[in-house]
Amino acid sequence: MAPGNLIDGRAIAEQLHTETAQRVAALKARGVLPGLVFVRVGEDPASRVYVGMKAKTSARLGLWSDTQVLPETTSEAELLALIEKLNRDPRVHGILVQAPVPSHIRASLVYSAVKPEKDVDGFHPVNVGKLMLGDASGFRPCTPAGVQELLIRSGVPTDGAEVVILGRGDIVGKPLTSILCQKAKHANATVTLCHSRTRDLAAHCRRADILIAAMGVPEFVKAGLVKPGATVIDVGVNRVPDPAAKDGSKLVGDVAFAEVQPIAGKITPNPGGVGPMTIAMLMQNTVRAAELASR
Ligand code: NAP
Repeated sequence: MAPGNLIDGRAIAEQLHTETAQRVAALKARGVLPGLVFVRVGEDPASRVYVGMKAKTSARLGLWSDTQVLPETTSEAELLALIEKLNRDPRVHGILVQAPVPSHIRASLVYSAVKPEKDVDGFHPVNVGKLMLGDASGFRPCTPAGVQELLIRSGVPTDGAEVVILGRGDIVGKPLTSILCQKAKHANATVTLCHSRTRDLAAHCRRADILIAAMGVPEFVKAGLVKPGATVIDVGVNRVPDPAAKDGSKLVGDVAFAEVQPIAGKITPNPGGVGPMTIAMLMQNTVRAAELASR
């Protein structure tokens, strides 16, 4: 159990992993081995860590995974050719091209090239459209889906709630808005999506029942932005200098945790909040892709 008002993302992710591992076992009993291929272009250090963590979790849950590492100089055509090969490979149920891709490659083209049925990242326009329409047959992007799951499993009701999301990025803010505003169970929220052009952002934040920070601005959310008792979800991952650390830096979120925790009703730690859920939802999406492909 999480102490006090903490939403323990690690523990909730473990619950999901247990459920996913059972589905993997059921698939294997039918002779289906769920397979996930990671494609990483270049040597971005954060991408190496993320792909490594995802591959390790795949192995722990009994999935087959493979990591294709391409050099930074890979052309768009070469990357698209690899994706096409993976689209045709029946052993591969999920394809994840780790962001960011180098600047000479158009990310939107890459996401559109992955077959929607194998798009376990939920970035293909077909899946984005389905999300917007509330069509549950698509794949939902892992981080926003993970945030919704955190709210569900920690008993935070969204029905009629004022949700304020900080950041309109394509990976978190925009899809999370779509998820939480749906006319559906565990949604039905009144969602306000704020960004750098929002007028009086503080006033929006202070009326939020659920405040979700996904900006990439270190410790932006201070106590003065939070209504006492509100649920605070910190999606941000920011590397900042830390002379005391071995490598001279540390990771912090978008929320000034030490000052916000005492007034929040519930709050995610960071790390240990949203991050583990992103991986858990990826595993769930991949197993679902394998179930659908083998029906
Ligand atoms: P993004 O696409 O760069 O979007 C950032 C958003 O924040 C933009 O909409 C930007 O506004 C807004 N913003 C930036 N500074 C602001 C300010 N001072 N006031 C108001 N709005 C501001 O980022 P993203 O990909 O959505 O990621 C957001 C954060 O989540 C990053 O820290 C990222 O590392 C993290 N993340 C974590 C996970 C995880 O698994 N934990 C997964 C994905 C992302 P404009 O649009 O007006 O520029």
